[in-house]
Amino acid sequence: MKINQERLINSFIRLVQIDSESGEEEVIVECLQNELNNLNFTCVVDKTGNLIASNGESPIIALAAHVDTVQPGKNIKPIITKDGTIKTDGSTILGADDKTGVASILEILKVLSENNKPIQLEVIFTVQEETGLVGSKNLDFKTLKSKKAINLDAEPGHIIIGEPANMQFDIEILGKSAHAMHPEKGINAIEIAANSIKKIKWGRIDEETTLNVGLINGGLARNIVPAKVLIEAEVRSRSLAKFKLHCQRLVKTFEEVAKSMGGEVKIKNHQEAWPFVLSAEDQLVQTIAAACKKNKIKPDIKLVGGNTDANVFNANGIKTITTGSCGIDYHTTQESVTEETLAKGTQIVLDALLSLSKEIK
Ligand SMILES: [Zn+2]
Repeated sequence: MKINQERLINSFIRLVQIDSESGEEEVIVECLQNELNNLNFTCVVDKTGNLIASNGESPIIALAAHVDTVQPGKNIKPIITKDGTIKTDGSTILGADDKTGVASILEILKVLSENNKPIQLEVIFTVQEETGLVGSKNLDFKTLKSKKAINLDAEPGHIIIGEPANMQFDIEILGKSAHAMHPEKGINAIEIAANSIKKIKWGRIDEETTLNVGLINGGLARNIVPAKVLIEAEVRSRSLAKFKLHCQRLVKTFEEVAKSMGGEVKIKNHQEAWPFVLSAEDQLVQTIAAACKKNKIKPDIKLVGGNTDANVFNANGIKTITTGSCGIDYHTTQESVTEETLAKGTQIVLDALLSLSKEIK
């Protein structure tokens, strides 16, 4: 069974021209709801704006993609070059992240429908993925019927089986203000920050753990002992034990240094994502890998340091692997995807679904 490349490209071109920066997804969700209704899917739009659809009570798997894009994503004018590359004039992003995923899913459903291949599926189109996985975090997982999912939000051949936990820290260091000529009367918050930062190892800690201090703000003037510094930092690890350890250490270090210098520290933390690592031998992973090979793409089963909706799905009991038909240079105005990439990525997921439906029967 082959996808219809021309229809797929046309559908992608149409989708990227529907503005859908994060938080402004109503129009695209309405369009997708109409398309899914025409394919005999029953749709529900939840209170966050996510679109959940299914064509039966016992879907074998869910297909997921996010419908929002980063900025600048308004008034996108896609260009197709002679060699089959789809890009923009450079004034906006293309939105291949993740409209390729959306277009692939629609094409797969159309091919299955016209070939009278009634596979029961669930479709999950999330909103606000780019602004902290907001849509998926607000999904009512109790209402989802699938136990596993393919998240289309990566390049063809990529099979992502592990993502890290992610803790975000807002650290407020409080010292005491004084005139620079009376340093004894003050407590220098910048110095507390510097000493604390120096005591922590940042960057890559090991293969599955990273720490970053990403933003620092403080002080008022050259001749004032600064009373306040704000720092934003993060800890990521695919190992829950290491994740907890480094989070605790970070907090402890700032607290101890601040105390030893007579200052104070207030730390707010927010867990952005939960870790998961699936087995490379898993049946779903192997099915997708086999579909890659069938389409002459070398499967790259990998663990990554970033987060996608798969993170939230896995944390909520839906075994989810990320692959897809995405292009390159996403989140920049140089973003592009080739027609071949989009077509191959789509065909791979279709082939994987067909294998899965046989395995299940
Ligand atoms: Zn994405």
